[in-house]
Amino acid sequence: MPKIKKVLIANRGEIALRIIRSAKEMGIKTVAVFSEADRKSPHVFAADEAVLIGPPPSAKSYLLGNKIIKLCKQLKVDAIHPGYGFLSENAAFADNVEKAGLIFIGPSSEAIRVMGNKLAAKKAVGAYDIPMVPGTDEAITDPEYAKKLGLEIGYPILIKASAGGGGKGMRVVYNENELEENMNLAISEATSSFGDGSVFIEKYIESNKHIEVQILGDQHGKTLYLFERECSIQRRHQKVIEEAPSMVISEDLRKEIGEAAVRVAQSCNYYGAGTVEFIYENGSFYFLEMNTRLQVEHPVTELITGIDLVKEQILIAEGKPLQLNQEDVKMNGHAFEVRVYAEDPENNFLPDIGTLTSYMRPQGYGIRVDDGFEQGMTIPIYYDPMIAKLITYGATRDEARKRMIRAIDEYTITGIKTTLPFCKFVFEHEAFINGSFDTKFVEKFFDHNSLETEDETQEKIAALMAIIYYKEDVNSTNQPPTTKKANSNWKKRVSK
Ligand code: ADP
Repeated sequence: MPKIKKVLIANRGEIALRIIRSAKEMGIKTVAVFSEADRKSPHVFAADEAVLIGPPPSAKSYLLGNKIIKLCKQLKVDAIHPGYGFLSENAAFADNVEKAGLIFIGPSSEAIRVMGNKLAAKKAVGAYDIPMVPGTDEAITDPEYAKKLGLEIGYPILIKASAGGGGKGMRVVYNENELEENMNLAISEATSSFGDGSVFIEKYIESNKHIEVQILGDQHGKTLYLFERECSIQRRHQKVIEEAPSMVISEDLRKEIGEAAVRVAQSCNYYGAGTVEFIYENGSFYFLEMNTRLQVEHPVTELITGIDLVKEQILIAEGKPLQLNQEDVKMNGHAFEVRVYAEDPENNFLPDIGTLTSYMRPQGYGIRVDDGFEQGMTIPIYYDPMIAKLITYGATRDEARKRMIRAIDEYTITGIKTTLPFCKFVFEHEAFINGSFDTKFVEKFFDHNSLETEDETQEKIAALMAIIYYKEDVNSTNQPPTTKKANSNWKKRVSK
């Protein structure tokens, strides 16, 4: 059985650091790669060795699979961990890694290939008794045929790109008149984003929750489920807040959905860590897709199960059998994760790039921050604008929730707008507290005015204080203060 002695992390930022930490604890040497934009990144300093691989654009650096493989040979690396994004779901890369005699810390290239394509995935799980959203399981090109299907399935319907990911290439159609135009748009969007214009149709489930199951499979046929995560708070079909467990999943349903996820994994002889995504509505769940990699939100599962998923991935890649049985996997307490994006929630979540002029992490019991930046660093425009993941753990959901609010208040980030104020809004919202929220939370409850209450209160305090200082000034000097002085006083006192 091969023992991994030196691993190269083909990634950047928080996930590269996350992997380096587990590797260190296992006595494995680490090699980081970085682009010119990431010279000062913490992952570069955390690794035992670090190599510059190219200019900032990922196509010229983090996506250069062959260059990275060559580097492994030169540095006597025996395994590559791809993290998430970049090369992690590239089946050809996984193949090339193995052809070069290296270990790919992930599933087989075949599993990546099947699950990387939503239509191929639907086909693969066909014989495994997995609940599916009503819809087609083949690519649709003819608008007339699509109209016929639309009538059968019933509107609204969702046009989806087979090769889709990250919420791209999806279009909701509410009636037949909108179908043809949306289909053409979806096909051209899918072609330009993924180089594959195949689209298919699903029933659009209006009020849905996103529930996913973490699985771990070894190379000897054992597959376990590590319970669910709920990731319903999304913007642009992309997750911002995740939690484990979900409030709406009962013990019986947990077993049912967990076992369904294991069957999905078995349908492609899956090994490694993976996530099976489902859409949930009124007690029923339907298969969406499987992500064949470590997921951004994996820490919430780690906190409730006490299992280090990166360590497990490495042990599985070495060929070790899983030590646990399903009944040994226990769940304790509750965990939340918020993704701290460099985005302006008051301006439609548009990216807000710039420099972290101040950056102070929250601390204390039950708080974990996975990040890849330090104060003074600039968020590069070339990559995903995620600054950090803020994760809290509590004995109960309410404790973890209140801890999250405390942590958000403590987190100081200036110079860049972030999703933190939006996240605080969510954690204080009644629908989030009582669990009656779905993936439409943002559309239903949030607009750019939602965050103004605090500002308005501050403005009112500022105005009141200004009057007090003005009166004090007038009393003490009998002279009205200059506007400039009054302004600077407001600012200083209110920002405290
Ligand atoms: P991607 O691979 O682009 O992330 P997914 O299939 O995982 O796409 O879906 C992403 C999100 O889109 C889901 O979390 C859900 O909110 C929404 N979604 C997907 N399929 C449906 C559907 N049939 N009905 C309603 N919403 C859906």
